[in-house]
Amino acid sequence: NQQILLDNRPQGEATESNFRLVTAEVPALQDGQVLVRHHYLSLDPYMRGRMNDSKSYADAQPLGEVMIGGTVGEVVESRNPKFARGDQVVGMGGWQEYSVVDGDAPGMLRKVDTTHVPLSHYLGAVGMPGVTAWYGLVKIIAPKAGETVVVSAATGAVGSAFAALAKARGCRVVGIAGGPDKCRYATEELGFDVCIDYREHGDIKAMSRALKEACPDGIDGYFENVGGYILDAVLLRANAFARVAVCGMIAGYDGQPLPLQNPALILINRMKIEGFIVSEHMEVWPEALKELGTLVGSGKLRPRETVAQGLAAAPGAFLGLLKGRNFGKQLVKITP
Ligand code: NDP
Repeated sequence: NQQILLDNRPQGEATESNFRLVTAEVPALQDGQVLVRHHYLSLDPYMRGRMNDSKSYADAQPLGEVMIGGTVGEVVESRNPKFARGDQVVGMGGWQEYSVVDGDAPGMLRKVDTTHVPLSHYLGAVGMPGVTAWYGLVKIIAPKAGETVVVSAATGAVGSAFAALAKARGCRVVGIAGGPDKCRYATEELGFDVCIDYREHGDIKAMSRALKEACPDGIDGYFENVGGYILDAVLLRANAFARVAVCGMIAGYDGQPLPLQNPALILINRMKIEGFIVSEHMEVWPEALKELGTLVGSGKLRPRETVAQGLAAAPGAFLGLLKGRNFGKQLVKITP
């Protein structure tokens, strides 16, 4: 069983030398346990936070242990009556080829139906990132039809699901993404009304001008994935009583400072700004996954994926995700 462990913690930017590839025996199954062979590993920005030892909403990833991560795969052996050989499952198997899971532990392993939704999408649009978009949009921004909503990291796993969900609610949807290819894809494939290339609008002034043009009626909701000057520019264009769902601030995950220039605008615009962690809202997952599954099954949401080949490619692909080298959901194909 090939595994990738966290070997040491990053000093500043994360590097490949923070990880270590090892081979271990697969332990024999105990009663109640299931052996899962992973087909895909999900790479997600939150993993960067776990590599640090600082105080956060979740515990740090312990050194010398298999990196945490979502996986989809199939049951190859079962000593649990709820799971049979051949079942397709989603779980938190980590950065390794196989995992042994307690099939009775709540929420650890879920069977999935791949008739209408490809297996890998259960790590993206019909999984944690999709539910994240759903929660921020539905529970925090709570838009009315006709309102304008904006999302950063627009073509990523969360951003692309956000677009489909917001369109379904009759919103004007504006994306912010890095580069002309991503922006073209956002409007042509993902249903965004407009997409702004932040690399072409690299400071508050340029971004707020671009937002003014893209959002002639102002901004009613903003789904924050990035942090930094984009948030400042949004505050300048926000309508009274605008809502901001603070989902991520990836621009700061490698230790970069993210100062806010003009916080008084929160008061002036009487805004609501709310952060959230999707795993603390398990009550919404069934409803959200149902809607997301229908959007994917009906072809209204066609999520794009970037797939790295083989477990050994995971660290490099993960570092690429933090630099925007992924185009859509970043996965690692574990089985050949
Ligand atoms: P994505 O698929 O969107 O990949 C990350 C993207 O972030 C990159 O492709 C890149 O897109 C963008 N990015 C990276 N660095 C920067 C930067 N310095 N400035 C601007 N953009 C940058 O990842 P996810 O969809 O999985 O996650 C999106 C966000 O959601 C993250 O912030 C993540 O932490 C957060 N999240 C939060 C959760 C919660 O519970 N609160 C749960 C899940 C995700 P581009 O090339 O367009 O810049």
